[in-house]
Amino acid sequence: MKRVHNFSAGPAALPEAVLEQARDELLSWGGVGASVMEISHRDKKFIQIAEAAEADLRELLGVPSNYRVLFLQGGATQQFALLPMNLARADQPVDYVLSGQWGQKAAKEAGTLAKVNILASSEANGGFVTAPELSGLTPSEGSAYVHITPNETIHGVEIFEDPSFGDVPVVADVSSNILSRPIDVSKYGVLYAGAQKNIGPSGLVVMVIREDLLARQPRKLPAILDYAKHAAQGSMLNTPPTFGWYMAGLVFQWLKREGGLAEMARRNAAKADKLYAYIDGSGWYSNKVDPRFRSRMNVPFFLPDAALDADFVKAAEAAGLFALKGHRDVGGMRASLYNAVPEAAVDALIAFMRHYAARHG
Ligand code: PMP
Repeated sequence: MKRVHNFSAGPAALPEAVLEQARDELLSWGGVGASVMEISHRDKKFIQIAEAAEADLRELLGVPSNYRVLFLQGGATQQFALLPMNLARADQPVDYVLSGQWGQKAAKEAGTLAKVNILASSEANGGFVTAPELSGLTPSEGSAYVHITPNETIHGVEIFEDPSFGDVPVVADVSSNILSRPIDVSKYGVLYAGAQKNIGPSGLVVMVIREDLLARQPRKLPAILDYAKHAAQGSMLNTPPTFGWYMAGLVFQWLKREGGLAEMARRNAAKADKLYAYIDGSGWYSNKVDPRFRSRMNVPFFLPDAALDADFVKAAEAAGLFALKGHRDVGGMRASLYNAVPEAAVDALIAFMRHYAARHG
């Protein structure tokens, strides 16, 4: 069976070994004679899957013992609303650092629930091509948290430092770069990620949240929107996305087999460096992002003439290079290079780009 080189921004490529394992186990998991999709989340077989996934994620990320891990539904977007609900009073300031559209969306959603302050923004002329300097920023008086988006998927802007704002916890939307390199979890109050890039299928969101923040309880909430209630029930207040949780577990095992996050960091840097070096040296393609903040996960790039875009995408697809069309708000192309995208895919992309430029340049 033919598989493409998949550069999708999300839902995105998954490791082939994981897909094969899921296929092999699809009809009967662990000899039980039923699919993971067909067994209760309360069944001890599923509990075994769930606990192993959490333990592996904790090991991979180095999650300290005073943090809880939640496996929830609703995607990252739902967390844009649940974060201020769970962490801030309606009259309390919350600080947002903007380096792209996802942070903007998070701030807008929070605006209905708390007093949003844009602490810094790198938006210039309607676009984001860099990130704000984080050192030296002072959160608002009484701020509930500072929200950052360490990787802006649309603009290809990545923040590589683990920032600290004293006692004010950092909340980070790591949807598109979680598990791509080691981070210091202890610097964050909350990490959250939609699964569909580096973790597994969509429909699952993974949260890592410091225990003292669960105790904040700034307002009365329905149980289904309350992080503390989810944590108290082991993410099983209602039926969790069991198949997504299982797939996440397989991806975590794969990451451990492949050498963990240090090895992912090495591979991701190698892939991204190679592609940026080709773009910069081509004299034909371009990437406008400040080199200090160029994302290793999402590489937007432009042809000299946007009139060629549609033809480029079509020719790339014919060459087995899938999902390179850029985000509608940015235009051009975007190659997403998540953990499951092998260096061979980048080599194939560069070879195609070279050939295309030679024909049209
Ligand atoms: N944050 C970031 C950084 C994202 O890339 C995305 C999705 N591309 C989202 C949030 C929204 O995620 P979801 O669709 O799972 O709500």
